[in-house]
Amino acid sequence: MTARILVVDDIPANVKLLEVRLLAEYLEVLTANNGTEALEICEGGRVDVVLLDVMMPGMDGFEVCRRLKADPATAHIPVVMVTALDQTSDRIRGLEAGADDFLTKPVNDLQLITRVKSLVRLKMLTDELRLRASTTRNIGIEELLSRREVSDATAKVLLVDERQESANRVQKMLRNAGECTVIADPHAAVFEAAEGGYECILVSTRFAAFDPLRLCSQLRSLDRTRFLPIILIAGAGEEERIVRGLELGINDYLTTPVDQQELVARIRTQVRRKRYNEQLRASVAETMEMAVIDALTGLHNRRYLDNHLQTLFDRATARRRPLSLMITDIDRFKAINDTHGHDGGDRVLREFARRLRQNVRGIDLACRFGGEEFVVVMPDTDQPVAEKVAERIRAEIARAPFFTREEGGEGITVTVSVGVSSMKPYGDRVEDLMKRADVALYEAKSGGRNRVVAKAA
Ligand code: GH3
Ligand code: MG
Ligand code: MG
Repeated sequence: MTARILVVDDIPANVKLLEVRLLAEYLEVLTANNGTEALEICEGGRVDVVLLDVMMPGMDGFEVCRRLKADPATAHIPVVMVTALDQTSDRIRGLEAGADDFLTKPVNDLQLITRVKSLVRLKMLTDELRLRASTTRNIGIEELLSRREVSDATAKVLLVDERQESANRVQKMLRNAGECTVIADPHAAVFEAAEGGYECILVSTRFAAFDPLRLCSQLRSLDRTRFLPIILIAGAGEEERIVRGLELGINDYLTTPVDQQELVARIRTQVRRKRYNEQLRASVAETMEMAVIDALTGLHNRRYLDNHLQTLFDRATARRRPLSLMITDIDRFKAINDTHGHDGGDRVLREFARRLRQNVRGIDLACRFGGEEFVVVMPDTDQPVAEKVAERIRAEIARAPFFTREEGGEGITVTVSVGVSSMKPYGDRVEDLMKRADVALYEAKSGGRNRVVAKAA
């Protein structure tokens, strides 16, 4: 794992100290001696984690953190505040400024490396999602993202601990910060974690006859719990176990005696990250769907058809199966728009799409090709059958009236013309197939509309 860490401190010796330890872990290090410089470097877009001293002349660490988190270009960079020992008020101020984590001076080696690596891992996941999101920016991902606020609702936490006393203590600490369920049996915990809708799992290391790291590794390997943050609660002197846990992918750890503030802060950081990434993931999925779905009718759009028709065509060729398609075009649609308005026309299109979908099979691909033209691709369907399907659709459109206003009103009769074509057994191409359907459609129009014409293969 290589990553770029920015160390910000006004005292050169402090910078050097952290730099040496990070370099020893093969991390790249950038340095800044004041807040202004730090902001500039971050805006340059090359920073994965910021280690930020609180006490600096001029702009202090809190202000730097606030500004980083307020700027959409830098808000996703994890910030670790480095505070003086026992300054609990500093910790709280840091979290309020949006810091992701904090370390206390003098900085403990294991803590430093753990926190940094854990944040780097999360940052990489976020970067990956941001990258995918940005490739589809042209269709509005930015807007989707900015619409969503990361929820700060209380977290649902699962604590796995067989010692009742310590479990009770932790549960009490989380009284105001989360909803904490305790489970004593580590074997049952995997199922509970997968099914219970939790946002963070706390795993105690103190089991009489069970290796808690086994639970961690199971949670990491299951699909349902792969992205669930795990925080290990370890005893003093368990450094080796913590390191192994980190290698297995736990996200953070605490050592006993557990400090309430630290517990709350670490859970909050993990949960916030998880929620942020979930929203990114949902936005990416939503955008990808938007890219291939027609917003008005919910059918696939032309872009999708252009990609997928070739695939269906190739598959039919390889399996020597028939394939047919139809192009439908609503008759005199302009007149519908003129008489009933554009909204009335839209209503007709939606209803048309609904009837189209209802009269084709699940494996058929129904698309809005553009305007009032639709295409249905029918795998495993020869021409006589395709003609029958087209005729059924034509009849179904003409049979029942369409309504152009929400409150119903008088229905209008709509008719459609359809061109059908089928794949030739040899030497056919997608564009030829489309062309033949188009010619057939033209014949249906010139032949008087409200009819189906099929072009022989
Ligand atoms: P024909 O029987 O020859 O097909 O006549 P037509 O009036 O349907 O002719 P044409 O295909 O030229 O007209 C289609 C009209 O559909 C033109 C356009 O304004 C309208 N249209 C295209 N997209 C939409 C849409 O999304 N909503 C609405 N309401 N109208 C649309
Ligand atoms: Mg048309
Ligand atoms: Mg038309």
